[in-house]
Amino acid sequence: MKITSIEVFDCELATRHKEMVGVNPILIRVNTDEGISGVGEVGLAYGAGAKAGVAIIRDLAPYVLGKDPMKVEAIWENLFRATFWGMSGGPVFYGGMSAIDIALWDIRGKALNAPVYQLLGGKTNDNLRTYASQLQFGWDEHMAALKTPDQYAEVAKYAVSQGYDALKVDPIMVLRNDVPPFRHDVHQSFFGLMLADEVRMAEERIAAMREAVGPDVDIICEIHSLLGTNAAMQLARILEPYNIFYYEEPVHPLNAKNFARIAANTSIPLATGERSYTRWGYRELMENQSLAVVQPDLCLVGGITEGKKVCDYANLYDATVQVHVCGGPVSKAAALQLEATIPNFIIHEHHTWALKPGVRELCTHDHQPAGGKYKVPDLPGLGQALNDEVVKHYHAYTVTA
Ligand code: MG
Repeated sequence: MKITSIEVFDCELATRHKEMVGVNPILIRVNTDEGISGVGEVGLAYGAGAKAGVAIIRDLAPYVLGKDPMKVEAIWENLFRATFWGMSGGPVFYGGMSAIDIALWDIRGKALNAPVYQLLGGKTNDNLRTYASQLQFGWDEHMAALKTPDQYAEVAKYAVSQGYDALKVDPIMVLRNDVPPFRHDVHQSFFGLMLADEVRMAEERIAAMREAVGPDVDIICEIHSLLGTNAAMQLARILEPYNIFYYEEPVHPLNAKNFARIAANTSIPLATGERSYTRWGYRELMENQSLAVVQPDLCLVGGITEGKKVCDYANLYDATVQVHVCGGPVSKAAALQLEATIPNFIIHEHHTWALKPGVRELCTHDHQPAGGKYKVPDLPGLGQALNDEVVKHYHAYTVTA
């Protein structure tokens, strides 16, 4: 079998769904001379960088076209070592490598008539415990920007009424109404020490949620790397009485020693991963043992090939894994396949964007959890396919051999 072409779809959702401004999944399809195709995703569906993510596939395609798609490890290694920039990457480069790798696993599964989880070691987890993620953006088919403690309490209760027993929220984000909901002001105090009213806002939001859902629901506290180390320790002291399941990205991960310092100063378990790529990107965080939960994004970390290695690496340090899922349905499908197999899986992320019609229509299967749990698809490959009727609107280009 040989790879003959790669199609790229620049899914800027606002061009079809007005309120989805700033959400831009990048999907690819790798085609072969045997009629088998695989789908992948570049993990840059938000923030700055989506258009670079669309373009990187064109640059990587010459290293892949004409190759046997079954040789995923050899192709990964060649993309890493032969492209010059592979050996130091970053989200755009590794996002491109990840998309291609995921598509190759999909092809492999289809060629062997097996779901990807069977190729990764078989099922360890049948029902994946799932949390409702990023509740500050609301929890229904519309985009929202929640602010008051009452709104936080109400959305938490609503998610729990659907069967979720774990929730994630960012308590310090001050969302703006005049720009896409994920945009926020940068507070200089966050990098030093938070002001009293900023700490109080965070505490009141978390306290309202805890009061609303009771003691048996896990609350994950997401900081989006908005704080500096001292502010992160300051806020952790305030949040400790609320029994936080884990504290996600209290600071950015580029200085692993900052994570170690926070870990030594709080009883709340720490998590990070969506801004760390490949085993090398995780090395210091693993070695200083500051993380309880590792969160690789399979569409950024280096695909399923590298993601599996990062999960096993985390296992060495008794760290659990929650794959970061914040993109389109292909990102979701890849996460489910890997999480089904790894023994150190802790919980699956179901992002509020995954409830939106603009995201759900991109693929033919609308995999959703039931009662706060996910079943892993048993179809060959990833168990997902592009919805051609929809993605034709987003077609960016096709590269051929
Ligand atoms: Mg996050």
